[in-house]
Amino acid sequence: MDVYASLADMVGNTPLVRLNRITAGLSVPVYAKLEYVNPGGSVKDRIALSMVRAAEDAGLLRPGGTIVETTSGNTGVGLAMVAAQRGYRCVFTLPEKSSAEKVAVLRAYGAEVVVCPGDVPREHPDHPRAAAERIARTTPGAWLADQYNNPANPRAHRGSTGPELWRQTEGRITHLVSGVGTGGTISGTGGYLKEVSEGRVQVIGADPEASVYSGGPGTAYAVESIGLFRHPETVDDSWPQSFHTDVVDRFERISDRDSLVTARRLAREEGLLVGASAGTAVAAALRVAVGLGPDDLVVVVIPDSGRNYLSKVFDDGWLREQIGDDTTVGGA
Ligand code: PMP
Repeated sequence: MDVYASLADMVGNTPLVRLNRITAGLSVPVYAKLEYVNPGGSVKDRIALSMVRAAEDAGLLRPGGTIVETTSGNTGVGLAMVAAQRGYRCVFTLPEKSSAEKVAVLRAYGAEVVVCPGDVPREHPDHPRAAAERIARTTPGAWLADQYNNPANPRAHRGSTGPELWRQTEGRITHLVSGVGTGGTISGTGGYLKEVSEGRVQVIGADPEASVYSGGPGTAYAVESIGLFRHPETVDDSWPQSFHTDVVDRFERISDRDSLVTARRLAREEGLLVGASAGTAVAAALRVAVGLGPDDLVVVVIPDSGRNYLSKVFDDGWLREQIGDDTTVGGA
């Protein structure tokens, strides 16, 4: 029979599709890696599976245990999906700016969700990561997934996303463009591709302009799940261990306007309904593509679907609040 034994077997092996209209005028092919095709709907299914398996192997997660994590939603969905199959309980802490759809989806999977203020320093007990650490400490049988510092996060991409791209492009990929949240995607995928290509593949981080990763001030921005925002009173300024900075050759810094407008254009011009961070990544990829030729090949990672953001990116009122005037973007 042509069947899967479980959802876990469906994670990964996502399609790579050429962008055809938004790339008008460019001579380099640009391909989008559609991570929303994963069974939980995002790139994060890969690391959820890899982190849970590693925790089980290490004896950190046992039958009846509780998975705790700070998640912008997608890691939570991946973990909740795996947990539902294996009988674990889930408790997730989320920053306030997470979209309503993401919170509702986590609850639908049976997870407990704690919404935390987004504007307190890392040291504050109500900060999402501090709250998750406290819940993990005080709940018997709890395991903190800690995607920001868990080596099984970049390892998932080194072992799957990277080899998939090399195989799918028959070794012709020359540029990888990805957003950086925990850094797992870019570090694992980029690290593998650099190694297998003997340094030929260039790795470009797509970062919100205000994000600390690419030298910004760390002030607020609208795009979720990528970049590093820093509260002015934060003392701990360490970057996640999941982010291997030496893998990134350079950053493209993208404004909220460019990210959001590009996400909207992808829906209307390519038929790709994608999230805000995919807008950031594609805006960066289009900049990278300028000056490249037909012998180059750009791949951009699309982390999740626009269905997670109908009340934000694809809501005219919300968009107007973020970028002012023009909500007719991408009306082609
Ligand atoms: N975009 C979205 C929508 C995400 O959920 C995430 C992960 N939080 C990212 C981008 C960033 O991926 P990574 O954590 O692997 O850097």
